[in-house]
Amino acid sequence: MKLDLRALLAGEYRTLPVQFDLVIEQDTKNHFTGLTDIRFDTPLSVSGTITNTAGYIRMSLSLSIDYTALCARCLEDVSGSFSFDVERTVVTAKMAEDMTEDRIDELVVVEDGFLALDELLTECLELSLPFRFLCKEDCLGLCDRCGKNLNEGPCNCKKKEIDPRMEPLRRLLDEMKAEEEKEDATPDPQDENN
Ligand SMILES: [Zn+2]
Ligand SMILES: [Zn+2]
Repeated sequence: MKLDLRALLAGEYRTLPVQFDLVIEQDTKNHFTGLTDIRFDTPLSVSGTITNTAGYIRMSLSLSIDYTALCARCLEDVSGSFSFDVERTVVTAKMAEDMTEDRIDELVVVEDGFLALDELLTECLELSLPFRFLCKEDCLGLCDRCGKNLNEGPCNCKKKEIDPRMEPLRRLLDEMKAEEEKEDATPDPQDENN
């Protein structure tokens, strides 16, 4: 999407409403390949304004997109809607030259009266998305032994995991049992020692 800002820059009106959809390409050729575990179910919906206040031009956009991602723990699909805002000061290339470097991030450069936003907004989406998604905050994930989804109930590995901790008690019970059997078969060893 290239917005025509010529009339806004010329001061013919103060505010330009912005409303468009941006399809996020997810093929392997573009730069948007870092997010392999997410697919977008809708285009990126973009709406907002660009306002010229006596030559100071400010772009203020709200964006949202529907996605399906994988839960980082159980690998089930997680669907949702993600929203974020983008605010930038719009400057001409000439103005950008005079800007100090630490302000460059807050700027977007208009070229020959047109503002190209696809790359900027795609980049902002990539940076705004959470690092990982969870199907729910307390997702139990998969058993790292058998791979069962533990949200659906415990697996059999769970019992085996408890076994080592119960081992001393089990051994004690075995010993007591063996001792009892021995006592039944032979006279009390305590008496012999005395
Ligand atoms: Zn999950
Ligand atoms: Zn298991």
